[in-house]
Amino acid sequence: MNSVYLDHNATAPIRPEALDAITAALAAGGNPSSVHAVGRAARARMELARSQVGKLIGAPASTVVFTSGGTEANALAIESAVAGGSRRLLVSAIEHDAVLETAKASGALVELLPVRGDGRLDLEALADRLGGWDAADGRPFVALMLANNETGVIQPVAEAAVLLREAGGWLHVDAVQAAGRIAIDSRALGADTLAISSHKLGGPGGAGALTFGPRANLVRRLHGGGQERGRRAGTENVAGLAGFGAAAEAALRDLDAAAAQAVWRDAAEAALVAAGAVAIGGQAPRLPNTLCIAAPGFPAELQVMTLDLARVMVSAGSACSSGKVKASHVLLAMGLDQFAGAAIRVSGGWSTEARDWNQMVEAWITAYDRHAARRRAPAA
Ligand code: PLP
Repeated sequence: MNSVYLDHNATAPIRPEALDAITAALAAGGNPSSVHAVGRAARARMELARSQVGKLIGAPASTVVFTSGGTEANALAIESAVAGGSRRLLVSAIEHDAVLETAKASGALVELLPVRGDGRLDLEALADRLGGWDAADGRPFVALMLANNETGVIQPVAEAAVLLREAGGWLHVDAVQAAGRIAIDSRALGADTLAISSHKLGGPGGAGALTFGPRANLVRRLHGGGQERGRRAGTENVAGLAGFGAAAEAALRDLDAAAAQAVWRDAAEAALVAAGAVAIGGQAPRLPNTLCIAAPGFPAELQVMTLDLARVMVSAGSACSSGKVKASHVLLAMGLDQFAGAAIRVSGGWSTEARDWNQMVEAWITAYDRHAARRRAPAA
């Protein structure tokens, strides 16, 4: 039996192109700040990566700031907005903790924006809040992710951007899960800042990027040298960034193949629903790689463990960094309280094949039938 890795939304396996770029950069060495030949070669690798990453998200290379990952890219945007005078942050209720917790820690007032039952932001609620904006709260700031990490549901970012623009606000978009899975044009979307992460698209962990538009002023987060145009001091992770760039280029090349994977996901969803599962987020546009399913009475933790024994790796919808399962704030925000502890996330990607989804479906149905039979059996 093959091992099946359907947990790309946690971390995608490293792409061969990324591994090659990392090895070459490590072998070459050098500090991009050095003026000699080895230093210049290291800088060239890093700048190539910057343009590769920029192309993936429709951003000029000069507007791409490298960070240590998605978390830091989100933090750079939020902290910059607060430093610029935003005192009230509107954050969608389904944001990743990287956004929610950073916003809470920023000292500004944080208000959660509701989502509808289908998992998409309630745009009327956003318009209402912006309509009654008090100038004393500074510039309006909204954080809205492009696609949710648990359900894959794609958010109405362009529509939100229009509202923000009218209000003179700042729209920050966490595109960590969307990048490399759907086409992204950060400028056409109307994002003022947009964050992505290397390890979700087949690059190494510990690298990410924030792109910023003309209406976003970024602050300096790390003090010291003048790296990243003074925004983030410290000698750069050249090998990691080279791997990130190579992964971004490969992901852009493979976007059509990524879109085609929706067929496998949809077939798996239909088979699981026929066997008794409930699919979550299916009424809205979704990433092509993500499936969130629940089975009332079948705890997420137990589903994940049983699948793992069958060599199928997935996540509980709401696994936190310790691996513990808590009720999913995303499902709670969608009004799906009854499923909040019983949902799993299955996510494919560049290395996935049709048979991976088939094996997952078979293993899940076996596990579910056994669990249901045990629940029906009278206690001894
Ligand atoms: N934003 C979203 C939507 C995510 O799914 C994640 C990671 O799971 C992050 C941000 C954090 O990214 P990183 O792990 O690169 O810090």
